Amino acid sequence: MELLQISKKELLEFVGTLVSGPLDVFGVVAHDGRFAYDKLDSAANLRLDFDETLYSPKQYLFPPKDPVLSYTPGDAASCAPVYAEKDQAIIGVHPGDMAAIAMLDKAFTENKIDAHYCTRREKTTLVGIYPTKPGKYRFTSSMIKPEEPYLAADAFLIDMGDDSYTIEIVTDRGKEFFSASAAKPATADGKAKAEKMKTAVKDTVTLKIKREDLPPFLDGKERHPVWETRGAKCFSCGSCVTVCPTCYCFDMLDELDLSFDYGLRFRTWDACVLEPFAVCAGGHNFRTKAADRIRHRLYRKQKYLLEKLGLAGCVGCGRCKTACVPDIAFPPDIDDDLLRKEAHHV
Ligand code: SF4
Ligand code: SF4
Repeated sequence: MELLQISKKELLEFVGTLVSGPLDVFGVVAHDGRFAYDKLDSAANLRLDFDETLYSPKQYLFPPKDPVLSYTPGDAASCAPVYAEKDQAIIGVHPGDMAAIAMLDKAFTENKIDAHYCTRREKTTLVGIYPTKPGKYRFTSSMIKPEEPYLAADAFLIDMGDDSYTIEIVTDRGKEFFSASAAKPATADGKAKAEKMKTAVKDTVTLKIKREDLPPFLDGKERHPVWETRGAKCFSCGSCVTVCPTCYCFDMLDELDLSFDYGLRFRTWDACVLEPFAVCAGGHNFRTKAADRIRHRLYRKQKYLLEKLGLAGCVGCGRCKTACVPDIAFPPDIDDDLLRKEAHHV
């Protein structure tokens, strides 16, 4: 992999030129002492030293409300797909969120190409950053393999702990992206240091079960009392799913203009923890109980997607621990509960 180095000042100057150009540039900015992704209107607002963000960058590849079709009522021939048109770059994606995008890439191309996702993805340059601070509940190293973020990234930044970054160039798109910057080839010393700096910040939480052991661990625990205990506290609010970088379930919504002259069909985020999620034809709901919905979510995170895609449905970002008011959504806590009760029964 080609390694470049760039001073922090030069990187900001480069981002400044991007922001004033035709590209939509997204990055992390500070909001009331916390961090969030936003569209950058100035390079000075970009923060690469963030610990964690409330939402993930998924929103720029799979927007919460995305127009997919326009139509004129009563005229079937008028139906026309709507696709993303603008090129964009997301600068500052932690390895866990990058691995989540790799998982979305697989999910949206697995059986059938999702043209809306793929069009936007094709127009997106992804620049990762290795964390410079621990996340409050991050356990990414337990959930992803080091190579998985590179399935999605075009380039990765490594803060060298001085006034510079090392840039790992992953794809031709990444090479092209940084070609207009002041980056220079990294020195041999810089390369050795960069490898160490990648793992300088450790996770706060460690999962007690290895990732590959999670699917068999969950086998046969579908009727475990832990689901009822946690389900009794669940508000079915959907926050745990909304903040999750890997959740990709969606619904469709038609909005007709009041004139009845035209309409738009949107794809909107849905959540398996919401009560109506599993209502099917005929009005039957096959997951009426919160306990069943919570179990299903955890099984998606730690078993089903691993088995289906070979990539984890949880990348250990820790956001659901912060977002869930009754604090019942965090996978490591649920696993601990299952382990404790297992030990108790032995
Ligand atoms: S399940 Fe929770 S910790 Fe895992 S990726 Fe989703 S929000 Fe992050
Ligand atoms: S687990 Fe927590 S965040 Fe998720 S739906 Fe239930 S109450 Fe809301």
